Amino acid sequence: MSDVLKPSRKTPPPEIAALSPPLSPKSEKADLKKSDDVVPIDINIPDNYVQHTLKTQKELPPIGWHNWWKEISWVSTTVLTVTPTIAIVGAFYASLQWKTALFAVFYYFVTGLGITAGYHRLWSHRSYNASKPLEYFLAMAGTGAVQGSIKWWCRGHRAHHRYTDTDLDPYGAHHGLLWSHIGWMIVKPRRKPGVADVSDLSKSAVVKWQHRFYLPLIIGMGFGVPTLIPGLLWGDYLGGFVYAGAMRLCFVHHSTFCVNSLAHYLGETPFDDKHTPRDHMVTAFVTIGEGYHNFHHQFPMDYRNAIKWYQYDPTKWFISVCSMLGLASHLKVFPDNEVRKGQLTMQLKKLRRTQDNLLWPSDSNDLPIISWEEYLKESEKRPLIAVAGFIHDVASFMDEHPGGRHLLAKNIGRDATTAFFGGVYDHSNAAHNLLAMKRVAVLRGGQPHGTEELAIPPSQKLRIARYNEMSSPYSSTAVSDTETLLG
Ligand SMILES: [Zn+2]
Ligand SMILES: [Zn+2]
Repeated sequence: MSDVLKPSRKTPPPEIAALSPPLSPKSEKADLKKSDDVVPIDINIPDNYVQHTLKTQKELPPIGWHNWWKEISWVSTTVLTVTPTIAIVGAFYASLQWKTALFAVFYYFVTGLGITAGYHRLWSHRSYNASKPLEYFLAMAGTGAVQGSIKWWCRGHRAHHRYTDTDLDPYGAHHGLLWSHIGWMIVKPRRKPGVADVSDLSKSAVVKWQHRFYLPLIIGMGFGVPTLIPGLLWGDYLGGFVYAGAMRLCFVHHSTFCVNSLAHYLGETPFDDKHTPRDHMVTAFVTIGEGYHNFHHQFPMDYRNAIKWYQYDPTKWFISVCSMLGLASHLKVFPDNEVRKGQLTMQLKKLRRTQDNLLWPSDSNDLPIISWEEYLKESEKRPLIAVAGFIHDVASFMDEHPGGRHLLAKNIGRDATTAFFGGVYDHSNAAHNLLAMKRVAVLRGGQPHGTEELAIPPSQKLRIARYNEMSSPYSSTAVSDTETLLG
């Protein structure tokens, strides 16, 4: 918030300029420079930017009792403490009228949407195109949320997406819930956020207009409008100021802050678990639909945060309605095929963990290979039965066999493959899985051709294998179960 009125920077920051090789005059980048007056700030970003910056850029010292008063960011801190104070003290003096209460809730959604549909999904992520009237509406509504100018906000947010969970993320969730919620605004930034281009916004007439009139707009939309509407329409100036102004602003602030804190802390990771963003209905409820943050960080250009119709995403509904009214167009949607791949990957990961926690039968690589004669000899000493190329020791199962001990006894020292697979009884999948756990050896010569599949217990027919566990890590086609199991 303190940077709100700073003029926009048009040249790369010195740390990038110093690292960049000079451009050849004929390069494409140079053409871009000529054709466009605003050069993307990261056009010459070095390949080792993140590592290099984290290593070489100076950080402000850690905050402790000895220096905290020197490190406070006074503008933001004043806004974030005076507003709730006005709300709480004001509530003792202004009785709450129901019309003012309803208007405060309504204005909470208007200014909140200015942030979620405007600052966030339109300007930070370009997830749809807005007509001029809608852009002006969102710019004004967003200013009423008193969260800095569009350009400052988007610059930070783009850095947040680009450097998530690193120290170049201005509100990195790895510093804890309090830091990502409010701490990063209360104290001076410990280091500069990572570079993120906002040159597209520098060209926007609406963004420039908001930047220019930011102070009158913030006073007008933050406190003027919410005081005047209840005042002029039903005579409740004080209530308007306290409830629709200060108290509503407090809620909008913490609603947005929850996207940085709660949405990186609470919930599931149905699309990817590489970083901290998470999906949770509760976060969605307190953030006007920004709570499906795991999806959002995976597919930031998508105008939706919630992809299911029953999930709470009023920002998405608002953009859809605007599109129906002809006020918004080119709503971006990530290909469903790719979205589902992310979901499948996470489901497989979970299943793989379950798979790894179960005991599995030994396969032919782990077992001794014996001849038919050796099998016959050994089965005189203990109850061994051959099924599908494997020798099984059924001693512990003799009295548990549902068909009776005699059916096992009669097959000791014999090949019971046919009898097991339907000849006498078509055994259940569970029986096959259990039998495989009793393997003690492999028969030399194994299984007659064409019946290899019988050697695979049902529980292993769809087993999950990592690419480096398959026969060729570069194979694009999945290896069959037989190959995976038998080598
Ligand atoms: Zn985030
Ligand atoms: Zn975002």
